[in-house]
Amino acid sequence: MRTRAHLPLLAAAALAAAGTLTAPTAASAASAQAAACTGYVGLTFDDGPGSGTTALLDSLTRNGLRATMFNQGQYAAAYPALVRAQVGSGMWVGNHSYTHPHLTQQSQATIDSEISRTQQAIANAGGGTPKLFRPPYGETNATVRAVEARYGLTEILWNVDSQDWNNASTDAIVAAAGRLTNGQVILLHDWPANTRAAIPRIAQTLAAKGLCAGMISPATGRAVAPG
Ligand SMILES: [Zn+2]
Repeated sequence: MRTRAHLPLLAAAALAAAGTLTAPTAASAASAQAAACTGYVGLTFDDGPGSGTTALLDSLTRNGLRATMFNQGQYAAAYPALVRAQVGSGMWVGNHSYTHPHLTQQSQATIDSEISRTQQAIANAGGGTPKLFRPPYGETNATVRAVEARYGLTEILWNVDSQDWNNASTDAIVAAAGRLTNGQVILLHDWPANTRAAIPRIAQTLAAKGLCAGMISPATGRAVAPG
């Protein structure tokens, strides 16, 4: 990320040296980058934080990507430094329940506990109070949605499933990211090695389509420019 952040300035300096530009600024470099984004997609990584988180964050930042991390509360409580590392790396943090149960088979009280304890664990770790919730397995119903509403959470499922949880190859994960269109969200996970290996090629694939990694809007559930 540090290297990439300097590229536009170096390019501007080169143009200035050639007489094309006289006053290269960080602002002009930033607007040039923004102009390169014809749309935004939401990269989401579920089930962390855990043993794969640090390497994942390294790869994301090296490739200039930001993402939404749907954390399990039990792991946010166990590894608060990793939650802070997520935020420090420019990631957004969402709620993915405390113990990853099939919520549609639980009582409303249990669903409430799963969600509220995770809100607290993430906040205690320094991850802020999440505004986004992803139910485990994408399983939801009216009771789950009623509890989400109590905590001001927007439910986020996905448009594209990378199948990384199902042993998808790195090629298949990259291809899945290549199917994303403006505003869409892809399901990925914090733990598969193939997902980490796919990150550089996901960055290249998105850039070739003019798509940038954005935040997920709590208002619309769609990927938008970070703001
Ligand atoms: Zn999950």
